[in-house]
Amino acid sequence: MRKHSAYLSVLLVTAVSLANAQTASEKPSSGTLPYSPSLDLSSMDKSVDPCVDFYHYSCGGWQKKNPIPPDQTSWSVYGKLYQDNLVFLRGMLEQAAQPDEPSKDPRNAVTQKIGDFYAACMDEGAVEERGLSAIQPELDAIAQIKLAKDLTPVVAHLQLTYSGYSYNSSVLFSAGSTQDPDDSEHVIAEVDQGGLGMPDRDYYVKDDAKSKETRERYVQHVQKVLELIGDSPVAAQKNAETVMRLETAMAKASLTRVERRDPHNLVHKMKVGDLTRLAPNFDWPGYYREMQYPEFAILNVGAPQFMKELNTLLSSESVDGWKTYLRFHVADTSSPYLSSKFVEENFEFYRKYLRGATEMQPRWKRCVQYVDYDLGEALGQVYVAKVFSPELKQSTVDMVRRIEDAMGQRIRALDWMSPETKQQALVKLAGIRNKIGYPDKWRDYSSVSIFRDAFADNVERAHQFETRRDINKIGKPVDHGEWGISAPTVDAYYDPQMNDINFPAGVLQPPLYDPKTDDAPNYGNTGGTIGHELTHGFDDEGSQFDAKGNLKDWWTKEDREKFDARTKCVDDQYSGYISVEDVHLNGKLTLGENVADLGGEILAYMAWKDADKDKNLQPVDGLTPEQRFFIGFAQWDCANERPEDLRMRAVTDPHSPARYRINGVVVNMPDFAEAFSCKAGQPMVKPAEKVCRVW
Ligand SMILES: [Zn+2]
Repeated sequence: MRKHSAYLSVLLVTAVSLANAQTASEKPSSGTLPYSPSLDLSSMDKSVDPCVDFYHYSCGGWQKKNPIPPDQTSWSVYGKLYQDNLVFLRGMLEQAAQPDEPSKDPRNAVTQKIGDFYAACMDEGAVEERGLSAIQPELDAIAQIKLAKDLTPVVAHLQLTYSGYSYNSSVLFSAGSTQDPDDSEHVIAEVDQGGLGMPDRDYYVKDDAKSKETRERYVQHVQKVLELIGDSPVAAQKNAETVMRLETAMAKASLTRVERRDPHNLVHKMKVGDLTRLAPNFDWPGYYREMQYPEFAILNVGAPQFMKELNTLLSSESVDGWKTYLRFHVADTSSPYLSSKFVEENFEFYRKYLRGATEMQPRWKRCVQYVDYDLGEALGQVYVAKVFSPELKQSTVDMVRRIEDAMGQRIRALDWMSPETKQQALVKLAGIRNKIGYPDKWRDYSSVSIFRDAFADNVERAHQFETRRDINKIGKPVDHGEWGISAPTVDAYYDPQMNDINFPAGVLQPPLYDPKTDDAPNYGNTGGTIGHELTHGFDDEGSQFDAKGNLKDWWTKEDREKFDARTKCVDDQYSGYISVEDVHLNGKLTLGENVADLGGEILAYMAWKDADKDKNLQPVDGLTPEQRFFIGFAQWDCANERPEDLRMRAVTDPHSPARYRINGVVVNMPDFAEAFSCKAGQPMVKPAEKVCRVW
């Protein structure tokens, strides 16, 4: 499940489908998900003073009980729930993978697809035997390239067929459909920067010692992959330098993540003729024909500077150099579903070296995740029927409504915003669509053939289906019912162009949303998540889109200046935090998430107070209702994090590390200091004049 949007704000990059899982409790189960409460006293460490370090007070016990499993890059409440989900999904998939027998009713179309996809993935013997031949047709097509113009059809085929499981890399550049930034009801074509093998352009350009070491390791990785597809060690070494040279030039011309957070930097609408003038060395009309794009008049070019540089490279680099680049990327991107030596090399660089995992995830776990990635809405249908009751939907819809009411009250009460801008903000709030649990209409995979004996082919067909589905949206009105992540995903997101908030069934399970526990911890936890996504509509990026999802300024100049001063307070606060060793957080990269974390919790607190105003709340286990609200909040993100992973995420992840997502919020909430009787001067209490408050 991949949504092509430059602006999507997810709750947690690390918890999205492919990231997390654990080794314990590996027995498949198709019964129920294991239960843990939304407030767990044993996860706390009461020896820590909450006014000194609230995160460790709330999560110290959890951290001790939950060391990072060797196959994981980090470990958290979300990751653990996702692991439970994987075990649960495995049970479902093993059942779905039972072949049809004459004595039984045949499987329906949905269970056949997910079952056979899983069975083919689990058939390690067949995958091993197939080896490199799974991508031999692509390698042959690359070998046939003689002239630069021959690149076009090969690039088109590779972009259609290969999307990376580890990173959404595509060869040369990325492309697809997007909502017109000026008219969000229409879908247009888009091309953007891409083509890199490492997770971010910064890896290629930074000159600290660690970045240099990483580049050396990457060149070794490229060399290894080229050797696996038949290059001699000497040739592979030379060819790896070529790949590195090309990618470095592309990286230098790429926008940074911080630049990409300003949506105006990404809007350059033009005709195909203009794109041809910008980058004449690539055959754009031929590319669009080859990809079978629908007729279209306008496309958006996300990063024109990148296209110019690519154009230069297309003539300055030899055709042989480009062939090497393409060969490496086909093999690297498809490594996860090739034979074991490819899988191992992929793990060694991307998960072990870059992110610190020490063991590979067992095959079943990877296979469950590939089903979720490639047939997510088929898997989601079966999942939702088991874990998301109408009652659960009703109670979570009610919580969303209450959080939105709180946002309306906040906007009306803001003392720094003019009535004109408030009016517009309320229009935007009223325009937000709430998507809870699962899509009203499931994606139809009937055109994707899935067989139980050809894993790589299944993956390629599923990827082609997804790319075509994305491209075929061009020229059509927007489908507001579409979801960007699958129902089992333990994550949530706001999409500014759709102006919608999305909470899949996977994120509305205990301990995150716990129907057996009272409101206080639930509002602290899931209420905060809902408020977080809602606030994204009004963070430094989301606030530039209007109620319809158009990139249109609805602010008065004075109000925007006051807003910027308020977000600067948050930027300065988080820029002062250390992520790992000598690495500071990037306050500008993480600004939107930090604003959403803070705003979300303020809204959740208001909504909770209102929801329970007529209840006579009493202390439980020696904790006041207010204390339980805040502990519920902190326990959404109890985590253990590896230094390697923190280092990577400081570059790539717009979210702050777990402890700052908690402590960085409560220091700005006087209600917290009051709940725990914290005194001025203690670490969790900011002087009043320094408290940040945006919404
Ligand atoms: Zn977020």
